[in-house]
Amino acid sequence: MHKPVDHRRILGFLRRPIAIEWKRILKEGVTTGPLMVAQRLDGRACAASVEEELHARISNLKQAGIIPHLAVVIVGDDPASHVYVGSKVKACERLGIKSTHIELPSDSNESEVRDIINKLNADDSLHGILVQSPLPKHMDEEGLTDLISPNKDVDGFHPENLGRLVQGRMDGMLPCTPSGVMRMLQWAGVETSGKSAVVLGRSRIVGNPMALLLGAKGVDCTVTVAHSRTADSRAVCSTADILIAAVGRAEMVTEDWVKPGAVVVDVGINRVDDTTRERGWRLAGDVDSSVANTASWLSPVPGGVGPMTIAMLMENTVRAAEMKII
Ligand code: NAP
Repeated sequence: MHKPVDHRRILGFLRRPIAIEWKRILKEGVTTGPLMVAQRLDGRACAASVEEELHARISNLKQAGIIPHLAVVIVGDDPASHVYVGSKVKACERLGIKSTHIELPSDSNESEVRDIINKLNADDSLHGILVQSPLPKHMDEEGLTDLISPNKDVDGFHPENLGRLVQGRMDGMLPCTPSGVMRMLQWAGVETSGKSAVVLGRSRIVGNPMALLLGAKGVDCTVTVAHSRTADSRAVCSTADILIAAVGRAEMVTEDWVKPGAVVVDVGINRVDDTTRERGWRLAGDVDSSVANTASWLSPVPGGVGPMTIAMLMENTVRAAEMKII
């Protein structure tokens, strides 16, 4: 015989998934699970707040008769490098930091760059020296970095400054991109203590110092570094509460690499073809936009880590100038 339809049971059955989802939301908070839309980790806004603080420090320096002064050396005609240098010079202008821009042709000798660095080291009116990377292939970039006086090494790449960081000392010049990421996390109120952090990439200028900063006393993340020889980077990244992608591979990190609710910082700057744009290309990070469905915070590209790198360069220059009065 045909059984009568139990409408109450059917309604209850349909409501069950909704009730389960609400229970999960009440237990875990709205920051996890399928309803997620990541908050924007806004590097431009954070950089503006750093610049705001720097205005007061620069005005104190000027009252003491010191004008912070940065020298930027660029060799060759790499268009991206010229854009970066232009942004750095503009930031100096905004803040009232003096900048000296030195350009050399790509076929210059390494000895010419050495001579310039030696002169800049000896110039007491100058507080920061930056040699824009990459240098032409025939030059020893690390050897030239070693030549910059550690007190003027506003990029934070000199072995003395990186060595201090390895020792857990924060009193040297910190590399701008990783310290900019740390400032963004702090600005967004991201809890770091006891969290698991994964850094994708182990370069001298981003990945390695990033891992050291995240694992430093007071920040207290448990840090894993993944690189090109990591057996399963996706699996490693998916364990992270905080994921920093610094790999230089456009949109490599997709939604399934990210733990629900993770904080994701995209350091990557990659040029990808885009026929819909007049110029034929667009900038892309290392993180795919699908990650916004899973992460709690996500930094955009452009407008994320890039402006923070410049803000921290300005802060290092001001710090170098302040050393003159301390
Ligand atoms: P890099 O020197 O080329 O280092 C890339 C790292 O990624 C290396 O450690 C490499 O591993 C690792 N890697 C490469 N392919 C991988 C894969 N398939 N799986 C896992 N790991 C892989 O680059 P970088 O200088 O650190 O820069 C990284 C990105 O950040 C670039 O897009 C760069 O343009 C950007 N960047 C942005 C800023 C900013 O201000 N926003 C500043 C600096 C750099 P191995 O060590 O094993 O080779």
